[in-house]
Amino acid sequence: MSTKIFDVIVIGGGQAGLAVGYYLRRAELDFIILDNQQQSGGAWRHTWPSLRLFSPAWMSSLPGRLMPQSKEGKNPHRDEVLSYLADYEQHYKLPIYRPYDVQSVERDDQNDCLRVSDGRYTWLANAVVSATGTWNNYYIPDIQGRQDYLGEQRHSAHYQGPEAYKGKRVLVIGGGNSGAQIYAELVQFADASWVTREPPQFLPDDVDGRALFDRATARITGQYNSDSADEDNSDKHRLVDINVGNIVMVPAVKKARDKGLLTTLPMFSRLTQQGVVWSDGRKESIDAIIWCTGFEPELEHLAPLGVIEEDGSILNKQGQALKEPRLWLFGYGNWASPASATLIGAGRSARENVPVLLEFLSNNN
Ligand code: FAD
Repeated sequence: MSTKIFDVIVIGGGQAGLAVGYYLRRAELDFIILDNQQQSGGAWRHTWPSLRLFSPAWMSSLPGRLMPQSKEGKNPHRDEVLSYLADYEQHYKLPIYRPYDVQSVERDDQNDCLRVSDGRYTWLANAVVSATGTWNNYYIPDIQGRQDYLGEQRHSAHYQGPEAYKGKRVLVIGGGNSGAQIYAELVQFADASWVTREPPQFLPDDVDGRALFDRATARITGQYNSDSADEDNSDKHRLVDINVGNIVMVPAVKKARDKGLLTTLPMFSRLTQQGVVWSDGRKESIDAIIWCTGFEPELEHLAPLGVIEEDGSILNKQGQALKEPRLWLFGYGNWASPASATLIGAGRSARENVPVLLEFLSNNN
């Protein structure tokens, strides 16, 4: 009896998996996409209801199909992104199977391929694309007293809007875009403070998420550094001053600033059962803490391959793992491909790296 071996198995059916699927479909490869969610949309399905993209639709599209213009304003709403992703996978008839939660990827020496398993079923493939994102692996710093604190603690990954915090004393922790947006929304309802380690860096009002994408790309490709910036080109020059963590002035954040509410407190020194101890020794009771402290790549299923480095990343060239050339990485962030954790970056890295994957397959099978 012959054993079925797919050309490619993609793990993860978020935007990165869809963008890869688009190019695999075009190349007429035999592939499937396994996703552990009940429905389409990846991490977008879990973001808070009021979330808007920090770029317009045309800058947030996957390959082949433009995201429709937002009905509600300049930048699309979270639900519009969800509709777009659902439509995208149907339009291109991508072979996505849900819910399959992949537990492991291992070498299958007998069949000279990789073996993917969800604990119930196994699948074989000549190449595996891991596009599992970061949403399932959120990060909370190990602050003294965190285990003792009895109030509510929630990561931004599970924040579902301000209503539950009405009238409460709440700390929003983290100086990035999530912290800014959640604080700007909460401060209208609750007695909220925004706590950051460093003072946040705000972008000018007219600069949106495109600049972050360009900057991430430029940083990786070495373009636009201060030595090479063209004195006569103001756009290029501006990019030099923009960091990927800078805060985009979306409408809610602007509104809070215009009301004089966009202020921060420096980090407290520890947590107690009831609240926090500020750095000057003052104690304060706090009802709830929302940690906007980021995410790490979701790579546990790749542990059997021995490819995960101490810093949690995987060494790769154009997405191909150096320690296991049949393994490919899409999404995750700059270490996998410039700005690949954004919608436009997911499309670009698929456009650039899937042809290398196709070449690898044709040379090795
Ligand atoms: P995901 O969307 O997380 O998709 C991965 C999929 O794989 C998920 O369905 C996951 O459940 C599944 N999976 C995980 N592990 C397994 C497993 N073992 N087996 C099977 N399936 C698995 N980007 C922009 O371009 N513009 C923005 O304005 C923007 N705003 C953002 C705001 C917030 C608050 C956040 C958190 C992110 C924002 N992003 C934005 C970033 C980015 O677009 C998303 O994080 C994006 O969802 C990442 O896509 P992905 O496909 O790599 O991962």
